[in-house]
Amino acid sequence: MSIARGFAALNAKAQLAPFSFERREMGDRDVGIDIKYCGICHSDIHQARDEWGGSIFPMVPGHEIAGIVTAVGRKVTKYKPGDKVGVGCYVDSCRMCPECSQGMEQYCSNMTSWTYNGREQDLVTPTYGGYSENIVVDEHFVLRLPDNLPLDGAAPLLCAGITLYSPLRRFHAGPGRRVAIIGLGGLGHIGIKIAHAMGAEVSVISHSTRKQDDARRLGADEFIVSSRDTFSKLSRHFDLIINTVSVDLDWNDFLRMLRVGGTMVILGAPTKPVPIGAFSLISGGKCLAGSGMGGIPETQEMLDFCGKHNIVSDIEKIPIQQVNEAYERVLKSDVRYRFVIDLASL
Ligand code: NAP
Ligand code: ZN
Repeated sequence: MSIARGFAALNAKAQLAPFSFERREMGDRDVGIDIKYCGICHSDIHQARDEWGGSIFPMVPGHEIAGIVTAVGRKVTKYKPGDKVGVGCYVDSCRMCPECSQGMEQYCSNMTSWTYNGREQDLVTPTYGGYSENIVVDEHFVLRLPDNLPLDGAAPLLCAGITLYSPLRRFHAGPGRRVAIIGLGGLGHIGIKIAHAMGAEVSVISHSTRKQDDARRLGADEFIVSSRDTFSKLSRHFDLIINTVSVDLDWNDFLRMLRVGGTMVILGAPTKPVPIGAFSLISGGKCLAGSGMGGIPETQEMLDFCGKHNIVSDIEKIPIQQVNEAYERVLKSDVRYRFVIDLASL
């Protein structure tokens, strides 16, 4: 065991504060990683404040991890000390079920071990995330970061990047397809960049005009402010709508904007159930889908795609001591577009 320093929430009402904890000894297939940067995902806030229920405390959040390999176990074949690597939303899974066998470890039938607020496969040991100085992860769950991408801007790809890439691929974003992204936040802004690089016509649906100029700079073809007027004007307009917003929106309004046979994908997680009228789907044969992150092979594919297209997150780098203020600013949509913690500040 080794002692690692980090920041943790001790309960759902507490501010994050310095915290020391044990990282496991390196096993034969483990990679030891010195964490350089960690993104702040809105899911960190939901979980640190126990908004989804069942949070495990003390909690060291952080699942957008970028760092450098410092040590490898004797059976590790993919990595060596000095490699630039990332760790995303999970660090293990059963590796035997049909989902794991197909590279969809995030949907493991038995139990995915989340990077934090989860348990190791022994079902007992709590996991601690990336707001910390180092982490030990089995090589299967470690991703290779492209050499041309900076570690700080690449960190958010490990959650925000894959969470957008996966549904954009699955629902065929590309030339001739109209894609709308609801919410220009951490997820949304990377979604614009990726969908644009895939060749789709990209629109952003935002709840104010504040981010209009940014949207175009990021690669959006259209910027739309959500309103009654928009919903009727853009009726049957989009092939694919990706919803990254976690506040209560009337999904029926957005479904109206889908073309016949179009799909709306839910990524943001409102805390209360959202009522859907049957005719919102029946009229026009529309689909409502959900998507959670992506599997390990697809995450590596996304990183390679971002390397090829030079896609990284727009970030505001902060020392870890500012994490509580950063949370408040994320809640006010006041970040352009992802906070990334510089762990050297620990
Ligand atoms: P974020 O950076 O806070 O972005 C959310 C965006 O929602 C904001 O930038 C804002 O965009 C919009 N919004 C905020 N308040 C709003 C309001 N009152 N009305 C309408 N829109 C509002 O969060 P994020 O990190 O991108 O995460 C977004 C959600 O996705 C969270 O719920 C997170 O837990 C979830 N998530 C899901 C997955 C998955 O695998 N499915 C993975 C990661 C995160 P505008 O200002 O443009 O309106
Ligand atoms: Zn996340």
